[in-house]
Amino acid sequence: MYLKNLTLQMKNNIQDYIINIIKNHGPLTIDIIIQISSNYYYSNFDSIGEKSDFITAPEISQMFGEIVAIYLIDIWYRKFNKPLTLVELGPGNGTMMHDILRTAKQFKNFYSNIKEVALIETSPYLVNKQKSRLKDFNNLNITWYTNIDDVKGDNYLIIANEFFDALPIKQFYYKDNKIFEVVISLSDNKLIYGLIENSSNLITNSHFKNSQFIEISDYRKKYTDHISKKISNDKGIALIIDYGYLKNPNKSTLQAVKNHKKVNLLDNIGYADITSLVNFTDIKNDFIKNNISSNILDQSEFLTKNCIIERAESLIKSRASREKINFQLNKLIANDEMGTLFKVLTTSPTF
Ligand code: SAH
Repeated sequence: MYLKNLTLQMKNNIQDYIINIIKNHGPLTIDIIIQISSNYYYSNFDSIGEKSDFITAPEISQMFGEIVAIYLIDIWYRKFNKPLTLVELGPGNGTMMHDILRTAKQFKNFYSNIKEVALIETSPYLVNKQKSRLKDFNNLNITWYTNIDDVKGDNYLIIANEFFDALPIKQFYYKDNKIFEVVISLSDNKLIYGLIENSSNLITNSHFKNSQFIEISDYRKKYTDHISKKISNDKGIALIIDYGYLKNPNKSTLQAVKNHKKVNLLDNIGYADITSLVNFTDIKNDFIKNNISSNILDQSEFLTKNCIIERAESLIKSRASREKINFQLNKLIANDEMGTLFKVLTTSPTF
């Protein structure tokens, strides 16, 4: 309901807009704040890239999209070998899809079987960026959707990089043997964090010890369900890449990033990228509930298994700068960079 009048009212000042809602309706839960903020942020700012607020793997190196492409093409040849629907959730600047399609073009059978490229994107600003990034491929049927449910295809290859981390979460906190939900409220007309007694049935005492946080995302679960509907009974596969964990750290992982630095979330609603770590065990369990099994690897493992080091060598041989390629490779696979913090979930088709 808050989102309906968003674009009209918010141009003035998103902070005032939120303060007004809280004055009139009471504190807002974190998921609503993230939804309002991200909607505004992705629709108004050039957010992704070295000169923008944050950088993602496909923006670091062309090798990332190339390796994802090789993984998809290999599975497709072995498992499907029929007209396919390639779906990407939250394509950002369109860079990963560009690198996937550029690579795919070398595999004629695969390329000619692409019936549709379906891009799921809610930001009109980013849709325009994606259109211009993918203009070399206008011989393909590329379609934009805001809702994955509207895609009607076959033999789905579904990919998402740094999409799940942007989806809203709820935060719960355990204190004095009671569950509270974290909210944003007001003090002297300024936004502050607060706690309200938990009224949702998403969580029970048994999850907690005192002073622990638990983060739960209904939005992520909905997306896992949407994906499951598309790929269950071997109708496709999914590849989900994000920064996250297997074991709940029981602390707040919410962060706001602007200009490549962490900033205060409450001061930057609508003006920074708000994300949180993805609970990959939750996603795996949601898939299991839908009878889909999956594997989770560290990003470094996934990329090396799929030959990123060989690809780096071949780029260097074809006269790319060794220093530049090694720098990119290190960013993607080193343990103190993205190598272990980022996970790759692949659903397992039966062969
Ligand atoms: N995958 C890209 C961009 C990641 S940023 C990359 O790796 O560079 C997150 C992306 O998800 C943006 O494109 C943003 O507009 C989109 N997004 C966020 N929430 C969304 C939602 N609920 N539905 C569809 N797209 C969404």
